[in-house]
Amino acid sequence: MSTVLVVCAHPDDESVGCGGALRLHALEGDHIVTVFLTSGEGGGHGEADHGATRRGEAARAARILGIGELQFWEEPDGRLRARPALAERLTAVIEERRPELVYAPQPDDDHPDHRAAARLVRRAVAAARAKPAIRFFEIWSPLGDMDEIVDISAVIADKRRAIRAYRSQCAVMRLDDAFVGLARYRGEMHSWPGGPYAEVFTAG
Ligand SMILES: [Zn+2]
Repeated sequence: MSTVLVVCAHPDDESVGCGGALRLHALEGDHIVTVFLTSGEGGGHGEADHGATRRGEAARAARILGIGELQFWEEPDGRLRARPALAERLTAVIEERRPELVYAPQPDDDHPDHRAAARLVRRAVAAARAKPAIRFFEIWSPLGDMDEIVDISAVIADKRRAIRAYRSQCAVMRLDDAFVGLARYRGEMHSWPGGPYAEVFTAG
């Protein structure tokens, strides 16, 4: 059993980006710690506190995937910065938990918050004494090159359910169809001779 750390800019990044891989970690008995840097409060549609809605959705998705611990750091959605103090805080988590792997959005993603999360993870890992491996996942921008291909065929239904737990997001965009579709594409095009669904990652 090992520890896996997931660093997300927003609640839902973990389910859409690496929900299948996380479910497989949980089934292996790994302990999963997820840090949500923002609560995605800017992605709302007029609610008084959309951050609370998305934190609740994150908790539901976590139960589906088997994520053991959620941390909400409440940085500003849409204005996330890889501040030195934030990198130090993340380094402290890495030092304390000693994860084997850190998942984060890929550095060339189209969303500035996702890029900031990737920078933050690189800085935090660089400063840590024991350096975990990094797996960057795709969200807004598909990866062109990939270092890791994970067959998630056995858990694709769980990934879909976890994404659907984000009801507020799926009401705006069919993220469930989009990311199950992407996994199907990755499985067919990149996972041969694996199963029909896959997630792909670049190494840090
Ligand atoms: Zn995001």
